[in-house]
Amino acid sequence: MEFLRNVPLAPRTTLRVGGQASYFAVAETLDDIREALAFAKEHTLAIFVLGGGSNVLLPDTDLQGLTLKIALGGIEWRDEGEKVTVAVGAGESWDGLVQVVCEKGYYGIENLSGIPGSVGATPIQNVGAYGSEVKDVIEWVEALDKRSGEARRFSNAECRFAYRDSFFKSAEGMHFIVTRVSFVLARAGSPNISYRDLAEFFRGNAAPTLAEVRAAVLEIRSHKFPDLSVYGTAGSFFKNPILDVTDFAALEQKYPEVPRYPLADGRVKVPLAWFLQRLGWKGKREGDVGTFPNQPLVLVNYGGATAADVKGFAARVADDIYTKAGLTIEPEVRYIA
Ligand code: NAP
Repeated sequence: MEFLRNVPLAPRTTLRVGGQASYFAVAETLDDIREALAFAKEHTLAIFVLGGGSNVLLPDTDLQGLTLKIALGGIEWRDEGEKVTVAVGAGESWDGLVQVVCEKGYYGIENLSGIPGSVGATPIQNVGAYGSEVKDVIEWVEALDKRSGEARRFSNAECRFAYRDSFFKSAEGMHFIVTRVSFVLARAGSPNISYRDLAEFFRGNAAPTLAEVRAAVLEIRSHKFPDLSVYGTAGSFFKNPILDVTDFAALEQKYPEVPRYPLADGRVKVPLAWFLQRLGWKGKREGDVGTFPNQPLVLVNYGGATAADVKGFAARVADDIYTKAGLTIEPEVRYIA
């Protein structure tokens, strides 16, 4: 494999922000990853793993160390009677996979249509949308330990999935590079269209086909999320706050009409977009960075925004939300130092 010097990273992220990688390599196989680990060790370089680049904010300065783009491919189908499993290389496009699965007529990931990024990124934050989460279809995740170069298979339970969270975000989990993911899909089923936006879309059509559900999700998303070919964006920039009962009660005192979604563990999720709109942040633009007019949870790089601009804007949003609503908000996008 080739180790390149001074490779611009902004075009490799959907936010289109960032300096150069001092070393850069593309891994297409497990052996490539091991070679990269050895190279990094030999030259005392830190390793930064890049997938689809759709959920990161890179620094404006050059990223020291080795940036390793994970491009492992391969899609293997296994017939298991009523179920079908598909083991997919971490570098495959997530939405490319969803499209093929829907075309084959298998149920399970149709609501996760249109999400940018690679397959390998989906278990890390347990990607979810429109009432589905990848954790519900993941059979196992294979990952390589950066310390030893050993490959390991994690069962669904070992992945410790939670809302936008998993073992791979923990201190121990960060030592692993996801290389392959196996999904379990159903040959027969009925789509889950209970989520508000989908239920409204399919009013009068109680049994849409998989193709119709995928088309509906893509259409709904196209109104709320910016077109990646036009804008730089990393999708939802902040996480929706999850409050315990006491904090929620205090919030409700101040905002009696606040929308709320109770979680199974007793806590309550509140939609941050509602607060952003109310507090004047919807469609707000400062220079080349702003919130998307159709969905304020999404930050947009209108052209020349730097990482400092994006961080500054996000910090001002967070301060304002804290001061006015008492909510502490965190970025969903990963800040790379
Ligand atoms: P939305 O549908 O306006 O929802 C806003 C918030 O309200 C989300 O936290 C959503 O929870 C919650 N919510 C809405 N209906 C709910 C219900 N029936 N039960 C429980 N919670 C409910 O959000 P949006 O911005 O248009 O996004 C559409 C979908 O894409 C959402 O599901 C969103 O989470 C998802 N999305 C995911 C990612 C990611 O995985 N990184 C990034 C961007 C958007 P949920 O988040 O649980 O849906």
